[in-house]
Amino acid sequence: MDFEKYYIFSKTYNDIDSPEYKKRMEELTPYLSQILQQKGRVLDLACGVGGFSFFFEELGHEVVGLDISDFLLEKAKRYAKEKNSKVEFVKGDARELPFKDESFDYVVFLGNSIVHFTPTELNQVFKEIKRVLKHWGQFILNYNDMRAVLPLLERSEVIADGYWVNRIYKDKDEKYFIAVFESPEGIFEVKFNLWGKTAVDLLSKLYFIKEKSIEIRENSYLEVFRRK
Ligand code: SAM
Repeated sequence: MDFEKYYIFSKTYNDIDSPEYKKRMEELTPYLSQILQQKGRVLDLACGVGGFSFFFEELGHEVVGLDISDFLLEKAKRYAKEKNSKVEFVKGDARELPFKDESFDYVVFLGNSIVHFTPTELNQVFKEIKRVLKHWGQFILNYNDMRAVLPLLERSEVIADGYWVNRIYKDKDEKYFIAVFESPEGIFEVKFNLWGKTAVDLLSKLYFIKEKSIEIRENSYLEVFRRK
């Protein structure tokens, strides 16, 4: 898991009290509370440290958060203890979900987590999401169009608290890129899959019917699907 290092550094994803994490939540939660109006069972897929899981619990849903990273899940469980939360955090792989068919009213997949999956893997993830969703369930996806964001990264316009992008390597087919991050503590490399909105549109059509697409800011989308 080469990407875990990035999350160990990035407060944007590992510290629910940081301004960066709060900003992400403030951007999405007004839409999410509109969409998830009926109380139900929510799967927060690739939940990270669980900020969104706690938000859904506060709205009155029963929540399961699943992630593959031990580091992030440990932190999520610590937060849950502090908050006296009943969210169940589970270690698992989005490509092979450890849940029964039709066991969730909502599956949310937030924070641009799709960058960790090749198109073939994402196809498997979408298939699994459809399997665990109840017949009338909704799938809520938030992602950035990385093809559009890449030029900004290449011009080093993206820097965060405590680290910055030093260099970007693209594969020759531009299917992924490797970002070399630098920080006072050292350098680390992370691979991000690079294919944009078109791939999500094409793959999601296999399993879902799109109900809504909101451009929450430039190149960042929140989309709502029903099972096909
Ligand atoms: N949704 C969280 C949020 O918005 O704070 C985390 C988003 S973060 C960009 C991507 C997450 O995907 C990380 O927590 C990472 O551990 C998780 N992840 C990557 N590959 C995964 C996989 N195969 N199965 C489950 N989670 C995975």
